[in-house]
Amino acid sequence: MKPIVLLMTNTLRLDDNPALVQACATGNPVIPVYILDEETEGTRTIGGARRWWLREALTDLSNRLDGLGSLLIVRKGRQLETVADLIEVTNATAVYLTRGYEPWTRQAEADLYDWCQAKNIECRRFGGNLLLEPEQIQTKTGKPYQVFTPFWRAARQYISGEALEAPERILAPKKWPASVPREGLDLAPKPASWADHFPEVWDATEAGAHDRLEAFIDSGAGDYVVARDKPGVDGTSRLSPYLAHGQISARRIFQRSMAALAQRPDEQAGIDCFVKEVGWREFSAHLLFHFPHMPKTPLKAQFEKFPWQEGNSDILSAWQQGLTGFPIVDAGMRQLWKTGWMHNRVRMIVASFLVKDMLWHWRDGEAWFWDTLVDADPASNSASWQWVAGCGADAAPYFRIFNPILQGEKFDKAGDYIREFVPELSKLPNSHIHKPFEAPPLMLREAGIVLGEDYPVPILDRAKARARALAALKATKD
Ligand code: FAD
Repeated sequence: MKPIVLLMTNTLRLDDNPALVQACATGNPVIPVYILDEETEGTRTIGGARRWWLREALTDLSNRLDGLGSLLIVRKGRQLETVADLIEVTNATAVYLTRGYEPWTRQAEADLYDWCQAKNIECRRFGGNLLLEPEQIQTKTGKPYQVFTPFWRAARQYISGEALEAPERILAPKKWPASVPREGLDLAPKPASWADHFPEVWDATEAGAHDRLEAFIDSGAGDYVVARDKPGVDGTSRLSPYLAHGQISARRIFQRSMAALAQRPDEQAGIDCFVKEVGWREFSAHLLFHFPHMPKTPLKAQFEKFPWQEGNSDILSAWQQGLTGFPIVDAGMRQLWKTGWMHNRVRMIVASFLVKDMLWHWRDGEAWFWDTLVDADPASNSASWQWVAGCGADAAPYFRIFNPILQGEKFDKAGDYIREFVPELSKLPNSHIHKPFEAPPLMLREAGIVLGEDYPVPILDRAKARARALAALKATKD
């Protein structure tokens, strides 16, 4: 029996994996393959934090496949050439894969599909990483959705189907093709110490994803409406990196949420709100699919002429390092560096600070997040940055500028989040933990802080920055 090459590149899981289940259902041997393709034209190289995650996830997938009598073949190179080589050496007659939605993945898939057609090789593409395919719904005028609420209303009617169980056995081919050692993939963090704390925070395995889901559904979902806005509490699922690596499916999350709702109808508000957030991921993918230039180009064209600041990269590095002098911004940026993740509320605050207070281009913020987030996702990242910058679909209006002090006081009232990630401020009382620059000298002395030495003085005057941002907005309209 001729084997099937199963590409698992964007689906590093056994659970609810339609391509895997269908490949096994043929009764043919299956060759599971991961390809690190950074060569197909236009491909965006995976960022540093995700490289760490990927190394862990590949080890885990490999172990799981071993347990089913199979193997993970790992290759590096252009997808098309790699698959052609695998087909030649294994005599496979079919390629199965899970669809991707980034422009470069779509290009690589289209190239592969055309090649397979020409060679008389079966090429089957499956959904699996979204609740619904981006072409499945459109507005009444036949256009892609650009506003979330009607998108989600329409989408909810189409979300159906059961998540699939993992196969119990995968038939192995008589002979396995060669695999490169994972060390050859260049996935080690740079600098080497960067990811030292990641393992304390993350279990980057498929089982880790399911543990997170269960823990959140059992104890977090009911309080989600309020808790999700508090960065100092563990109030969200933290499933995003698992979703980004295809270690858990949105369908599994949806199905588990609906099962919980059936058992605990009193938690409806929390569970609905959580599922709606998963809907934002669907919306972002829908946008990227229909507007593939979104990672680089504003969806609102008038923002092309926005007068972004250029030059003084010192303030950009102050933002990146969490040294702006605004505690909630600094706590967020340090959480990002230390753990590879940042709370959603704080992502909005730090992004607003960059694009509005600093008047810095959102693309630089998007690029920093791309490199440092373990959940970096081309769709959600660029859609969210454009949302904050006011230039995206269904975006926050540019003139609405987050005040980092008020945001901190509202969502981290007791200063827990600041004390965790900006420990030099930990002895300040709650009254001034979000504004050390307004603390009286005695209070600073008692907290052991010399501003400008132990903690930075603010890098900008917010009142002036706000006026400058509003003037810049006016310039895009003239
Ligand atoms: P939960 O609150 O538990 O939500 C469950 C899931 O819903 C998340 O795992 C995620 O898949 C999805 N989700 C939640 N909020 C959003 C949202 N606003 N947009 C899209 N999907 C959402 N999310 C990413 O997955 N990758 C990114 O690269 C990314 N970049 C962002 C950049 C900025 C500037 C901002 C403001 C947000 C960004 N987000 C991104 C969205 C959001 O912050 C994260 O998805 C969320 O914080 C992940 O934590 P969680 O899994 O605990 O979320």
